[in-house]
Amino acid sequence: MTRYLLKNKVICGYCGSMMTGVSGTSKTGAVMYYYRCKGKIGVEPCHKKLMRKDYLDKIVLDSIVSELSKPKVMSGMVDKILKMQDELIKSNPNLTILQKQKHNVERSLNNIMKGIEMGIMNNTTNKRMQELETQLNEIDRQLIIERSKTSVKLTKDELCEFYESALRMEAQLLIDILVKKVVLYDDKIEIYFNTPINVSPDEQSGLLICARTVRAKNLFSYKCPYELQLLIEMKI
Ligand SMILES: [Zn+2]
Repeated sequence: MTRYLLKNKVICGYCGSMMTGVSGTSKTGAVMYYYRCKGKIGVEPCHKKLMRKDYLDKIVLDSIVSELSKPKVMSGMVDKILKMQDELIKSNPNLTILQKQKHNVERSLNNIMKGIEMGIMNNTTNKRMQELETQLNEIDRQLIIERSKTSVKLTKDELCEFYESALRMEAQLLIDILVKKVVLYDDKIEIYFNTPINVSPDEQSGLLICARTVRAKNLFSYKCPYELQLLIEMKI
């Protein structure tokens, strides 16, 4: 069984389909392995060329290890994640809604208290006060839950440790942990990194870092020199 390091992670840059592993026999009889796009653009089959498995696996792995081993690159990436983390914590919409609700309930309770001070106390005010207190307890409970979701704030050291420890792992684990997806064109590879910050249970809106690491005239020969063009973008 040939191991495709990037199994289920390679997306065709032209049609968006998942590229799958195929094998073929060369003229010399050697078995060759490729990533292949079986997608369509309109009614036509996608024109994405076959990509040799050993080239792509090696280019992606080498690019990640060489780039993330540079302290400047690692630090820049981690700083971006920290900034994004702060923004996400600040903009938690559930927290904002709950805080507004709490404010409204507290205002109603205050009004009743004022009434009581002025001598207005009957069954209705009593019942209303109990209702509001129950509501307030419930809102407080939900606030604790919401705050706990965002209070697990990762520090710069923890983020660096996440990436550094992944870099020390064997190839398949390293890819599984660090790589979200690889978008493949005939002359460019985009590597999207995972981040350790779990901001949403929805996979589609997770945090991604895009590193356009490779731009080459011809990606079909590993010997062909390729340019590393790291461009870290945060995508939500
Ligand atoms: Zn395609």
